[in-house]
Amino acid sequence: MARLNRLLAALLLSALGTTVQAQWVSDSWDVMGTRAQVEIWAPDPGGAAAVGAVRDEFERLNTLLSPWIEDSVISRINRLASSEPVHVSEEVAALLNTSRHYNILTDGAFDITFASAGHLYDYRQQVMPDADALAQARSQIGMQSLSLSPENAVVFSKPGMKIDLGGIAKGYAIDRAVAILRDLGIQHAWISLGGDSYTLGDRRGRPWMVGIRHPRNQTEIVLSIPVNDLAVSTSGDYERFFIKDGERIHHIINPVSGEPAGQVVSVTILASASIDADALSTSVFVMGIERGMKLVESLDDVSAVIIDQSGKVFYSSDLTGSD
Ligand code: AMP
Ligand code: MG
Repeated sequence: MARLNRLLAALLLSALGTTVQAQWVSDSWDVMGTRAQVEIWAPDPGGAAAVGAVRDEFERLNTLLSPWIEDSVISRINRLASSEPVHVSEEVAALLNTSRHYNILTDGAFDITFASAGHLYDYRQQVMPDADALAQARSQIGMQSLSLSPENAVVFSKPGMKIDLGGIAKGYAIDRAVAILRDLGIQHAWISLGGDSYTLGDRRGRPWMVGIRHPRNQTEIVLSIPVNDLAVSTSGDYERFFIKDGERIHHIINPVSGEPAGQVVSVTILASASIDADALSTSVFVMGIERGMKLVESLDDVSAVIIDQSGKVFYSSDLTGSD
């Protein structure tokens, strides 16, 4: 419909002897607990509508999925699924199934029930669970305790367990925004949400350049590569954290311990869909260099750059040409 309207407008303008102009439109705003940024090549005046459509979609997904909004579906599941089945939409069921897929693929490193422990941390208030609370929470982690029936009813088999889609929601939101922009006829755009981004098409004759900064030295670029139609997702221990007794308490939780995962400081994943790049950046962060890189090498069209605690940079073999 939107495409038809634009076509009609273009025909009308050319009939009047006016050429339709196109231009880069950019915007940035706060949503989903982070910063959204877009750069879109769009016909004038279609740019504002395209940005508006992306804004609306991010807002819709935040309202649907945030565990911090009382009537979001995730809050409803967390409140009720231990005592009664909670029916969810096809869209939410698909996200739960993708989460299960990554849980199995990563041998448990990606686990949305991490939230049973993860929600006991408050990074702004610098709060963390004591040993008893952590032990209790640890026993509630495990995706096998979440069931999703063919009728899309969610049931928790452990009282008090919690889920959080924070490890894939931003990637999914970007994939949705890209689909919306494509439907509007947009062929060139860059969209980012915190550490997740997607480049749609090229930059009008030039490739988009993606630079990966060193997490402990922001002026150092460890890799700069040309990308088109590619998702790039970085998970880092510097996004949400506080320091307690010299230890960095951050937001990526090892489901085995219920505590922040420790071996690496940042993981960047390149993949064709944002939801995959997002899930894998969080997963590989938890898995560490050896297990994480092994997983990346086993997947088609997925690349990784991992930086460890000592600042050493590891690249998947396709990036160094050694495969
Ligand atoms: P990202 O923003 O992609 O770096 O992922 C970090 C977010 O994923 C955190 O803020 C949590 O919401 C969520 N998360 C943390 N640990 C895990 C885990 N082990 N499995 C799945 N999601 C996680
Ligand atoms: Mg991620």
